[in-house]
Amino acid sequence: MDKLDLLLKDLTETPGISSFEDRIRERLRYYLSPLGEITTDRLGSILCEKRGESSYPRIMIAGHMDEIGFIVKYITDEGFIKFAPIGGWWSQVLPSQRVIVYSKKGEFFGVVGSKPPHLLPPEEREKTVKLEDLFIDIGAKSREEVENEFGIKPGSPVVPWSPYQVIGKDGKFLMGKAWDDRVGCAVMIKTLENLKGEKHPNTVIGVGTVQEEVGLRGAETSVKLAKPDVAFVLESGIAGDTPNVKREESDIKLGKGPTIGIMDSSMLPNRKLVEFVEETANELGIPYQYEFMLRGGEDGGRIHLYNSGVPTVTINVPARYIHSHTGIIHRDDFENAVKLLTALIKKLDAERVSKLV
Ligand SMILES: [Zn+2]
Repeated sequence: MDKLDLLLKDLTETPGISSFEDRIRERLRYYLSPLGEITTDRLGSILCEKRGESSYPRIMIAGHMDEIGFIVKYITDEGFIKFAPIGGWWSQVLPSQRVIVYSKKGEFFGVVGSKPPHLLPPEEREKTVKLEDLFIDIGAKSREEVENEFGIKPGSPVVPWSPYQVIGKDGKFLMGKAWDDRVGCAVMIKTLENLKGEKHPNTVIGVGTVQEEVGLRGAETSVKLAKPDVAFVLESGIAGDTPNVKREESDIKLGKGPTIGIMDSSMLPNRKLVEFVEETANELGIPYQYEFMLRGGEDGGRIHLYNSGVPTVTINVPARYIHSHTGIIHRDDFENAVKLLTALIKKLDAERVSKLV
């Protein structure tokens, strides 16, 4: 594992479901503190402002810190935990997955319980399991034990357990949880690291937002502190290079470059900014792909509507299997996204930004 692996491992393995971002925020604070001036908004988003040669334009580069997970709803008399989803889960990916439940008394491993096939009548086997029928088994004997010994209660957060691993023969397939959107946080951090000691004709504000997965909430609050003139939203893209995904659904392949967001249900990007990204990528020989997200929005949905409007585009690192316990990204896509964003920032001066609208 090299330095980049260690950063990605740290960012993906740190827990932080929406509204429980404290730990991941402290990791971002650790990486960002040497790179600029740190502030936080009052929902918990973290901002790192790095002044370049000019105070205008202000460029916001944002990734969301929160990940999808669960929250404890109630505990059965037998000591099983019933839970509510935080963020968009498909129940089919959950049975028999391991999770960690956090409480004041510690971190407790458990598994999402499921019926063995031996107990399933044929008609039940054909059906998808309903999220509300699932539960977590932490090896407790009773509700009293869960509450008193484990310290787990309604409202305790539950996070997928999924260690970071490098797979494949070339060391470029990176497997872990929460690529959505710890990969965006990592692109933001690495880009600010690249700019350290470098000249750029603007001021950059790296932002780790909170509560994206439950409705782009930290984007709405942090943008008011960032006050951007232009914004890049850094996200995970949705790769479609696996069996049974049709080209109409996703044409995005791992290792073929970062993606430029062409549309999603929360934002249409600034078209001149899209062209600027394409031109810059072409100049540098960086491959890129296009992202169409017909269902779902991302932080740009709030950021581009700030004040009288902010020219915004999303740049995504493609990931397989997002919104599940384990996703896969490709190292080349990550490195190309950082290279591209660094180059964009070095070129974005007052004149260019004035021509975007
Ligand atoms: Zn996301």
